[in-house]
Amino acid sequence: MGLNRRDFIKLGGAGTGGLLLFGIVETDKTLGFPAPIALKKKIGERTTVCPYCGVGCSVIMAVENGRITNMEGDPDSPINEGSLCSKGASLFQVTKSKDRLTRPRWRRGGTSQWKEAGWDEVIPALASRIKKTRDATFAVKDQEGNIVNRTEAIASLGSVFPNSEEAYLMSKMLRALGIVYIENEARICVSSAVAADGETVGRGPMSNHWIDLGNTDCVMIIGGNIAESFPVAFKWVTRARCKGAKMIHVDPRFTRTSAKSDLYARIRPGTDIAFVGGIIRYVLEDMEAHPGNYNLTYVKEYTNASFLVHPDFAGPSDTLNGLFSGWKGGGYDKKSWAYQADPAQPDKIKKDPTLTDRHCVFQLLKKHFARYDHDKVVEITGVDRGTYQEVCRTYAATGQKGKAGAIVFSSSACQRSTGTQTVRSFGILQLLLGNMGVAGGGLNGITGAVNGLGCTLQGLVNHWLPGAGSVRPPAGKEQALSAYGANKARLASLLKAWYGDADPKISYHYIPKRGGDYSWQPLFKGIRDGKIKGLICWGINPVVSGPHSGSIQKDLQKLDWMVVIDLWETETAAFWKPEAGANPKEIQTEVFLLPAAHSLEKEGSVCNSSRWNQWRYAGAAPPGDARSDLWIINKLALKLKELYAGETDLNSAAVAHLTWDYGDPPDVYAVTKEMNGYDLKNGSLLNGPGSLKDDGTTSCGNWLWCGMFTEAGNKAKKRETEDPSGIGLFPGWGWAWPVNRRIMYNRASVDLDGAPWDPQHPVIGWRDGKWVGDVPDGNWPPTRTSGKYPFIMKPQGRAHLFGPGRPDGPFPEHYEPWESSLSNLLSPQQNNPLLKSWEAAGRGRPSEYPIIATTHRVVEHLHTGAITRRLPWMVEMMPEMFIELSRELAGEKGIKGGDPVIIESARGRIRAKAIVTARLKPYRTNGTMVHCVSLPWNWGYMGLSKGDSTNQLTARIGDPNTGIPEFRAFLCNVRRG
Ligand code: SF4
Repeated sequence: MGLNRRDFIKLGGAGTGGLLLFGIVETDKTLGFPAPIALKKKIGERTTVCPYCGVGCSVIMAVENGRITNMEGDPDSPINEGSLCSKGASLFQVTKSKDRLTRPRWRRGGTSQWKEAGWDEVIPALASRIKKTRDATFAVKDQEGNIVNRTEAIASLGSVFPNSEEAYLMSKMLRALGIVYIENEARICVSSAVAADGETVGRGPMSNHWIDLGNTDCVMIIGGNIAESFPVAFKWVTRARCKGAKMIHVDPRFTRTSAKSDLYARIRPGTDIAFVGGIIRYVLEDMEAHPGNYNLTYVKEYTNASFLVHPDFAGPSDTLNGLFSGWKGGGYDKKSWAYQADPAQPDKIKKDPTLTDRHCVFQLLKKHFARYDHDKVVEITGVDRGTYQEVCRTYAATGQKGKAGAIVFSSSACQRSTGTQTVRSFGILQLLLGNMGVAGGGLNGITGAVNGLGCTLQGLVNHWLPGAGSVRPPAGKEQALSAYGANKARLASLLKAWYGDADPKISYHYIPKRGGDYSWQPLFKGIRDGKIKGLICWGINPVVSGPHSGSIQKDLQKLDWMVVIDLWETETAAFWKPEAGANPKEIQTEVFLLPAAHSLEKEGSVCNSSRWNQWRYAGAAPPGDARSDLWIINKLALKLKELYAGETDLNSAAVAHLTWDYGDPPDVYAVTKEMNGYDLKNGSLLNGPGSLKDDGTTSCGNWLWCGMFTEAGNKAKKRETEDPSGIGLFPGWGWAWPVNRRIMYNRASVDLDGAPWDPQHPVIGWRDGKWVGDVPDGNWPPTRTSGKYPFIMKPQGRAHLFGPGRPDGPFPEHYEPWESSLSNLLSPQQNNPLLKSWEAAGRGRPSEYPIIATTHRVVEHLHTGAITRRLPWMVEMMPEMFIELSRELAGEKGIKGGDPVIIESARGRIRAKAIVTARLKPYRTNGTMVHCVSLPWNWGYMGLSKGDSTNQLTARIGDPNTGIPEFRAFLCNVRRG
């Protein structure tokens, strides 16, 4: 008899008489999954997914009489196998907290107190504020006469924690209102990875998944402390190590991740491109010396290595000024970055299969990285020379056919003024080593929140509608659906889902058109400048998480109204209070604080970093009058539709005609089905995005989710624990977008005839005229017969070593952080030439602020700590804001462990307790000794554990690709306080 892990534990529980949860109360009447176990005790089980990080650990709730009486890791989950970290294990306390909001609160302008109110008061009041602001500022046309149908006076921020169904409805309602300033935390967390991976391989998220880390031969964790930020995922790394895999950790701080690694490379914050550039140089040289150690077919066939670039192209190695050809001051003219044409080729691009032509991408790459020699890298990064050589050798060994190396990174690598190019360098290295698409390989950028990916892909960022990438809000000039070309069916189906029978020629214009940069930092500038009058914050706390957060707190005073939807009163909700250093009498902003249900108290799906969607069931009712985001959005949308009913102008019609029939209270399954989509000819649920039509016969709220809820059932609920692949794909556990593919670009894991490069760990294989294994990334026959290459999101199907789509260069180039006490040793170009700044406070001078500061998270607190700093267990374990500083710096400054310390930057001053540690060391670089300190950013002035917010020190500057702030490297000074 085959026992799964849960059966086994149940038997154990029966034997010992322990608690364990012998039945499932939840009977899923909707559709087939999961098969319920007959109830044997009063105490029953419901499953949920931990609401914190992007690992997505499954949790069992014991439920009795509508109360959660116990919680523990779900042993059946192939992701966490019953484990939970300290945050997941403390979830139980959320339901017990006396601090939870239980009634809506309302603060009138100029007053110093909240007043409690009923939903029947706050929903109409809020709807009327939205309508008033919207109607007063609505633009039907822009200055050029294009229909734009938008308001730039209302902004929405957040979140990354709601269920995907809630995020989808937020997106739908906000867009119908014409709101264009729509952002969430992903913007300031990992957005540069999306831009980089999109350029390099075609899609932004993790290419592989958590369990697959167990298949790797070598994992390089760079810019991330996985052991503490994503603890349960780290088990897959340690499992690989038990099988002989190597682990490399690259980080300024020696952390618990470093402690478990085979090689720890300490680098100066902000120098990752130099570090990885040196490995790329090593690989390229070694490839020439030992071609048999590399998969050259992969490089030649699956990347653009052979493409010839315009003869006028020049890079920093030619120009010696740190810039690429075409620099015009303020931007590049990219004419010289174009490929040479060859009309005889199917893709019209001239190529050199020998990779020897001096204009081919491969040779240009070699030339570009030739300057990143060991001496230079050691000098720039401060890495130990011997360690670096060993890192190069060890990671390059994954280039052999049949070997796999994984690069894992998180926000630490992304939050840079060169964040996109940093992640581009990771991608180039992976492609040279043939590590994309294979088991145990990949570019694995981790989202920090449980549904960061799900919320973002539902369109909670300004430049994407639900479905992302190919389904973007139109720009002002795009006045017809035809602008979407091959992706027309996706937007046409979305319009059917949102506007039913309305003529698509008209409903197309109900979607507000873009007319500028509506991302996070311009959004806060819009508030500061008084342009944005109303702000909606869904479970987000920018007064702690945003760059230069002290100024954000002041900017909020300019708003006419603000609404915060959260579990507790946050620093953002209370920005007007004396505790925030404000004078309430002088602040006229009207503030609504709406009590939200926790994830344990509602139902819906979430998508983890690996793209796996899992269903969460409700374990308990929310306290008092707290309600789910779905309920709140539904009420608000219904009220707004009522207010706009009967108004016939274009701006009103976008709201009045919006389909909104989920019931009251809303039925979450109706939303999931709408996201999946219907065949409107027969009313059946669609099977996948291949069924979408542009002729109005299909509806689909989000084409990426199409296939999750079919006539066969809601696949996010699937809990099958079989793994026919033998490499941990677990195709019957949840459902991964797109089309339940577990490893993206998997056709790169096979040769031109469809045979796996690694027969021991095959992801797919061509057998008897069909693909077996994972869902292939493109269902054509193998490349030799079909001519279809594996990176299907790139125009020629080949991944980009040379990336002409980015504004700041086709190859990554090292530039110093915006604030740096050192000169760029590679060129006279000190910083990213296209770095964006919204900072009014100016740049810190090294003479005044000589110390490098970097930031990090602690395992016990999530992000701004808005949740975890309210939980006694978490606060007991991690009670206080601190600063880590080296023994050398502490000695120079006369600071001892436990001393109060004042930390200052050009933006602000904070206090923290000193931890003097050997985990940080000064860098000797270019003959100078530079100190570095590290600060967690999990604290604010509210909660059980209060502390200063590190982001009072950081700057409002950002990467030119996405505007992600440079949180991880700035200048400060410290002294005993
Ligand atoms: S915080 Fe992350 S690692 Fe910890 S239990 Fe939750 S999902 Fe798992």
